Amino acid sequence: MRPAALVTGGSRGIGLAVSRMLCEKGYDVAVNGVRDESQVRDVLDDLRSIGTSVIYCRGDVGDPEQRKLMVDQLKDSFGRLNVLVNNAGVAPKERLDPLEATEESYDRVMRINLKGPYFLTQAIANWMVQQKKANREYRGTIVNIGSISATIVSANRGEYCISKAGFAMHSKIWAVRLGEFDIPVYEIRPGVIKTDMTSKVQEKYDKLIAEGLNVQPRWGYPDDVAKAVDALADGKFPFSTGDVFMVDGGISIQRL
Ligand code: NDP
Repeated sequence: MRPAALVTGGSRGIGLAVSRMLCEKGYDVAVNGVRDESQVRDVLDDLRSIGTSVIYCRGDVGDPEQRKLMVDQLKDSFGRLNVLVNNAGVAPKERLDPLEATEESYDRVMRINLKGPYFLTQAIANWMVQQKKANREYRGTIVNIGSISATIVSANRGEYCISKAGFAMHSKIWAVRLGEFDIPVYEIRPGVIKTDMTSKVQEKYDKLIAEGLNVQPRWGYPDDVAKAVDALADGKFPFSTGDVFMVDGGISIQRL
């Protein structure tokens, strides 16, 4: 039987590159997102053409009822899960000075980036433990897509940085809790990656990158992150649970 994976926010950007990589590696993939299925049909067809089974689990990860429906759909459709990639995330709709930030934006970002994945992981982790108890050969892995914003300040999107700092602890908590079941939990921490999320600030980052923001003088691409997920899902780091894997072109190296 083929291994199965769930990729939240898996129909565009970093998540899509991860979904495609997993399909190419022979996984059946459940793609999650909030858009209507009609809007992602071409993407799903493209993934299906790779040859494995691909389903769309529409649902807001930050909404308890929608999250439950997603997990139920996944259980009904695949009946098993080996890899969870917590990738879905949002930036604030508007970048605001913390002196003017709104509670509404703070709550939205925390709900989607932090609370949602915590309770989605809880549901999936319980299921993974059941699968492990039923079959000692079972392999489960959780990969969290964090951000350099866990440690690097962007003052005009404080709520995003705080969510990613919290998400770093989320990875460690689940790594510790699932250690006894040999279910590793990793955090990948991307730098500046060219996706819809960064499209509004593309010119700003084009300039900063040209001026040496990254040690490797280029944008990061979704595939750079997918390659790291590949190595982790493939068991290349079996004794590294809870670790952070940087995919940031050296942006986080402090320089003088
Ligand atoms: P995009 O904005 O390109 O895509 C975001 C994805 O998340 C979409 O698929 C979207 O679904 C999904 N999504 C948004 N809200 C929800 C929700 N409530 N429930 C379920 N899915 C949702 O983002 P990126 O690909 O750039 O980012 C992916 C992850 O990587 C995020 O967690 C982000 O914080 C992180 N990251 C990104 C960096 C970058 O420079 N781009 C850098 C560091 C980290 P739909 O397609 O249906 O709208």
